[in-house]
Amino acid sequence: MPVSRGRDFLALPGPTTVPDEVLQAMHRPAVDIYGGELTGITDTCLADLRRVFRTERGRTYIYIANGHGAWEAALTNVLSRGDKILVLESGRFAVGWGEMAEPLGIEVEVLEAEPRRAVSAEALEARLRADGTGTIKAVLVVQVDTASGIANDIAALGQAIAASGHGALFMVDVIASLGSMPFEMDGWGVDVAVGGAQKGLMMTPGLSFVAAGEKARAAHAEAGLRTRYWDWTVREGEIHYMKYCGTPPVHLLFGLRKSLDMLFEEGMESAFRRHALLAGATQAAVERWSEGGALAFNAPEASERSPTVTTILLEEPHLGRLLDWCPELCNVSLGIGLGPLGGHAFRIAHMGYVNAPMMLGTLGAVETGLVALDIPHGRGGVSAAVDHLASRLKA
Ligand SMILES: *Cc1c(COP(=O)(O)O)cnc(C)c1O
Repeated sequence: MPVSRGRDFLALPGPTTVPDEVLQAMHRPAVDIYGGELTGITDTCLADLRRVFRTERGRTYIYIANGHGAWEAALTNVLSRGDKILVLESGRFAVGWGEMAEPLGIEVEVLEAEPRRAVSAEALEARLRADGTGTIKAVLVVQVDTASGIANDIAALGQAIAASGHGALFMVDVIASLGSMPFEMDGWGVDVAVGGAQKGLMMTPGLSFVAAGEKARAAHAEAGLRTRYWDWTVREGEIHYMKYCGTPPVHLLFGLRKSLDMLFEEGMESAFRRHALLAGATQAAVERWSEGGALAFNAPEASERSPTVTTILLEEPHLGRLLDWCPELCNVSLGIGLGPLGGHAFRIAHMGYVNAPMMLGTLGAVETGLVALDIPHGRGGVSAAVDHLASRLKA
């Protein structure tokens, strides 16, 4: 294609761009897994994950698994067959977590948000107050729903649970937000948090993480669904091999060590601000494009839009043509619509290892596609993104 020589841009909300430094850290021979350097790397990664989850009292576990594996790990470590959970729906992913629970013999109730809106703290509090006998053992929610592009207010949901006086565990999926926006496991009353490597943490797919607080560890002592591979207790001993219930993922650990170093070098607060700025630039562009009538934000409420991914409604035939055009002609891969948004939306990620030229390039490619394909849109989306960044980056 005439303009496609150069780097490919991955604007998917996972996997995301992996920094060259992280790839290089992984490019090395395997090492001894019973002693030496690797055992120290495990210890520092476990400790640093506590910093990332913002928990002092919680414990962290590293799984050789994608996010779905960590979902199952979280469920099996604290629940028993016949338990009931309440899934707070705001898109696709919390429901997906609930779908992992059903075959385990867990009863799943879904509390739906209003269409295209974040979960309501009032609705959660009311539902928990109505559960006088305490049949609900856990409340499951995602901080960012990567399908709908909606961010839930985890602090407010934690307060709602506390206000209801209900004893349910608060379990939060932060796979699409960890390291990219504020999350306070201890401060917000979260009992179990689930993260993944390949989104905001700038690593390859293959690792996922669970953090468990004191209340979750008490539930763990009674949990009937524990299996040896996922079991927290099995992973807590001194033997390095058992921290992974088998051979440690040597190369992934070298990569994770590097990606955590890079996150701390930037500073978590700075990373949050970078994500907010790049999300703002993306939203400014989408707002402008929406003036043409064909495109629209999936999340109508601006304050509920995720700082890591923007979901944009667009119908066929425009949608399929744009999703083909951007990678084929401009080397930019966009996220497709998921679940009910399949065939009705695309997604632009601004998550992980991204900077202003990468985002402006991505937005520029999308806008070029909108022009080239005659998709009705408000002109000047990239200019709006530039104005957004320039006004906030003034010296
Ligand atoms: C990506 C994602 C998952 C699933 O993770 P996999 O690694 O694809 O299994 C779960 N929850 C959220 C919020 C995600 O963004």
